[in-house]
Amino acid sequence: MCIRRLLQCPPLQWARRAAFLKHFQSDHQETHRWTHFGGSTYRAVIFDMGGVLIPSPAGVAAEWEIQNHIPSGTIMKAFKEGGENGPWMRFIRGEIKVQDFLQEFGRLCSEMSKTSVPVDSFFSLVTSEQVSKQFPVMTEAITQIRAKGLRTAVLSNNFYFPEGRSFLPLDRKQFDVVVESCLEGICKPDPRIYQLCLERLGLQPSESIFLDDLGPNLKAAASLGIHTIKVRDPETAVKELEALLGFTLRASIPNTRPVRKTMEIPKESLEKYLKDLLGIQTTGPLELLQFDHGQSNPTYYIRLANHQLVLRKKPPGALLPSAHAVEREFSRIMKALAKAGVPVPNVVDLCEDSSVIGTPFYLMEYCPGLIYKDPSLPGLEPSQRRAIYTAMNRVLCKIHSVDLQAAGLEDYGKHGDYIPRQVQTWIKQYRASETSTILAMERLIEWLPLHLPHQQRTTVVHGDFRLDNLLFHPEKPEVLAVLDWELSTLGDPLADVAYSCMAHYLPSSCPVLRGQASSATAEQTGKLTEFMFNLAWDFAVKEGFRVFKEMPVTKPLTRSYHAWAGPQSPLSPTGTRSYSSIPEASPAPASKGALVISPGGLRPPVRELYERLDRFMKQRVYPAEPELQSHQAAEDRWRPAPLIEDLKEKAKAEGLWNLFLPLETDPEKKYGAGLTNVEYAHLCELMGTSLYAPEIFNCSAPDTGNMELLVRYGTEEQKARWLTPLLEGRARSCFAMTEPQVASSDATNIEASIREEDRFYVINGHKWWITGVLDPRCQLCVFMGKTDPHAPSHQQQSVLLVPMDTPGIKIIRPLTVYGLEDAPGGHGEIRFEHVRVPKENMVLGRGRGFEIAQGRLGPGRIHHCMRLIGFSERALALMKARVKSRVAFGKPLVEQGTVLADIAQSRVEIEQARLLVLKAAHLMDVAGNKAAALDIAMIKMVAPSMACHVIDRAIQAFGAAGLSSDYPLAQFFAWARALRFADGPDEVHRATVAKMELKHRT
Ligand SMILES: Cc1cc2nc3c(=O)[nH]c(=O)nc-3n(C[C@H](O)[C@H](O)[C@H](O)COP(=O)(O)OP(=O)(O)OC[C@H]3O[C@@H](n4cnc5c(N)ncnc54)[C@H](O)[C@@H]3O)c2cc1C
Repeated sequence: MCIRRLLQCPPLQWARRAAFLKHFQSDHQETHRWTHFGGSTYRAVIFDMGGVLIPSPAGVAAEWEIQNHIPSGTIMKAFKEGGENGPWMRFIRGEIKVQDFLQEFGRLCSEMSKTSVPVDSFFSLVTSEQVSKQFPVMTEAITQIRAKGLRTAVLSNNFYFPEGRSFLPLDRKQFDVVVESCLEGICKPDPRIYQLCLERLGLQPSESIFLDDLGPNLKAAASLGIHTIKVRDPETAVKELEALLGFTLRASIPNTRPVRKTMEIPKESLEKYLKDLLGIQTTGPLELLQFDHGQSNPTYYIRLANHQLVLRKKPPGALLPSAHAVEREFSRIMKALAKAGVPVPNVVDLCEDSSVIGTPFYLMEYCPGLIYKDPSLPGLEPSQRRAIYTAMNRVLCKIHSVDLQAAGLEDYGKHGDYIPRQVQTWIKQYRASETSTILAMERLIEWLPLHLPHQQRTTVVHGDFRLDNLLFHPEKPEVLAVLDWELSTLGDPLADVAYSCMAHYLPSSCPVLRGQASSATAEQTGKLTEFMFNLAWDFAVKEGFRVFKEMPVTKPLTRSYHAWAGPQSPLSPTGTRSYSSIPEASPAPASKGALVISPGGLRPPVRELYERLDRFMKQRVYPAEPELQSHQAAEDRWRPAPLIEDLKEKAKAEGLWNLFLPLETDPEKKYGAGLTNVEYAHLCELMGTSLYAPEIFNCSAPDTGNMELLVRYGTEEQKARWLTPLLEGRARSCFAMTEPQVASSDATNIEASIREEDRFYVINGHKWWITGVLDPRCQLCVFMGKTDPHAPSHQQQSVLLVPMDTPGIKIIRPLTVYGLEDAPGGHGEIRFEHVRVPKENMVLGRGRGFEIAQGRLGPGRIHHCMRLIGFSERALALMKARVKSRVAFGKPLVEQGTVLADIAQSRVEIEQARLLVLKAAHLMDVAGNKAAALDIAMIKMVAPSMACHVIDRAIQAFGAAGLSSDYPLAQFFAWARALRFADGPDEVHRATVAKMELKHRT
């Protein structure tokens, strides 16, 4: 039997129905979740609608009658008139249509009141959205009841609208059962409708509680055995219900806590103020909670009667005049933005009278919604996260699109220079609260003002735009309100964008993201600050990389041997190369792949790079030399100098990093600046003017050669493991070829053995003069040894990548060059004793060592020559300064003919050598390394000797001081001299030149 038919039977047959109910119930018992609360077994709560969930028609009628001058009580009397057969009862049983009801009801009212009663207007009012809103306290209660596993029902005496829809202004999803009188054809207090409701709930009367505002309805329910609560006002009714159920029905207001002692506000005077403001007569007590967020302007949740509000106030105590301006938030920005369509909470009132709660405050409507505290949005699907962030971005666009003039916000802040002002404020605030030196911040303080973006637009900026300042719709990705406008002003919209992206880079445990920054301990705050500054500095470094990534690529000309470019321009942009013998006025064509003989001829982005490098050398590198020099003599000299690390960071941030990788090796500019060899020659020469500079720009040997080797021949795994840290300057490396027991200028002599053993190669050998091996940052040894001693002489060698922490690597001693140790890298003598390396560490393949060694020294072959020109230029510059100021035998040294001759000789030799370096570089660019072999050999023959001569002349002019470590001359000389072996002995280069001369030119 269907339930509807069953209900249609007369009341006397209820006994049979009770049996049915029992049966029905036992059928469903299995699946129903029964919940017991402290011995009580209530399993459902049934709500009447009008007067319980929404305002009662009777209450609405009372006010309406006053406003329309209708005798009080007319509507209520008319409701009851006619009993079961009166118009109202027939209407709510669905027996008559709305028009008939209104006609009959209107007539009745008019007869009773002896005046015309516009019942249509009353009906429209009762059913309007404005009036028929569910009480928030009931919404909360229903949510809590369902959360505990109880069922909910609405049992409503309602009616049909003309279009056939029933009047039920509720979210049906809140209820397990909805019983509507107009649909069922019966209405309260008819017991059958209660029974129907119970049957649908599958419960006994005693298992449910019924709430209604009308006595007869309650009486009928009670007579069936249902527990009842008379609803006089929703708040009190919910309290009674709580008592019956034994658990709270108040949703905890998310993100709130009890008011902290120090944040208390006088409740009584606030309550009085609110009652006057909202016109509330009787009510329960004022409920006050404090929000977790809104730390600088304390923010409170208020519940008073049916009102839920948010109060935002100034903090107590003396404040700077412009700080915490809640008045500004209320009257300027929030109102204007609401009008402009930006979702902000509805503001209700501003109270500037400090006598109420001690400070001015303003009130907003409480907007229930979700605040996502964790920006990683745990528990959400990727698509949901995307939707949330899209909504966040949309609302930001909306803020930034507000028409300042139309919104009356043109004077809301200063126009222009927002970011420079912000940066200055940060610096000032940082300095004011600084407790210790944070290196990254010091760097940022210097770097930021020099790299500020140009402000393109002025818009409203929120100033604290992050996910947890947004209130989201509980069910869809929609921002209901943007909160906390305290820092808003006019400014650069990109600042908000950048700020909102911060969460992407911070770990989600970061207290800043969790709104716990103010509760962190001093130690935590210190660590956090440092972490953030380091992060910011990483961005500066990335910006540095971007500088050369954005440079247009230079394509070397295709194989046009000896393609000398047209007239070249000298450069004297910085004064460093004013020695050029080429007239200043010549044009600077800077064609691609050209032989540019002076920095002035470089294409504009490279010239700009050159100028930046020059500035960096003058501002940072030369002034750092004395400290770096004394570190090399200090006890901890085998540890890297912190100043070097600092300067490396700064160079990175300036885009002065990894400039060495030539375009031919790295055509996509994945790793370096994509300069041609000629372009790099000019920059490398400049770096060569200081012994410390190459490392600062990550352009020093032997790392450059090793990096190039990895770029050219490394597998992706090898690159990931070794190339990346080297490119980033986090690691260093060495190259191990030379052996004490054999003449290593002939690489075929190399004896170290590389033997295969299962999945490994086992190395045994004795090496020396291994530059950089003593450096604690050295992680990789590029090792050359023999895998196949019986193969043809050039196929016996192989190259292996050996991690420096592999067991069996024994450093015997550091070697010295004229007594210089070159700490911390040094030049070490080492033994390899049964060093096992996985087979995948082989580069390119067995027997390919020679090929690799050649490639390794490709462009890198002339880097030393480029730097030697730099050594020589610096030596000559020092010499010139010295001889001008030093007087002997009655006149400055510069007036001595021999000194003048030395200066002239040095200038000429430098120019000759430079031209040869540039020519070799140019040939490498346009004809390839093989075609440039002769020129490479020639310059290698020339450059170290030339440098030795020039430096030696400078030392001579300095007198004994020239040999001391007070000047870089002695070290320059030692290096130049060493390079007559280290870059291959002069004789070997001479032999190459002679062979080629004889072969090609006879
Ligand atoms: C400061 C410094 C750093 C170094 N760094 C490294 C490094 O990182 N890794 C590495 O593996 N090695 C390094 N070396 C070693 C360097 O590469 C070798 O010293 C160089 O290859 C010469 O080898 P050798 O010393 O065994 O001299 P030998 O081969 O013994 O030669 C000795 C001399 O014989 C003469 N000679 C050789 N061949 C000829 C010829 N064909 N015609 C006429 N005369 C000839 C030359 O005068 C030569 O100087 C470095 C050396 C120095 C000084």
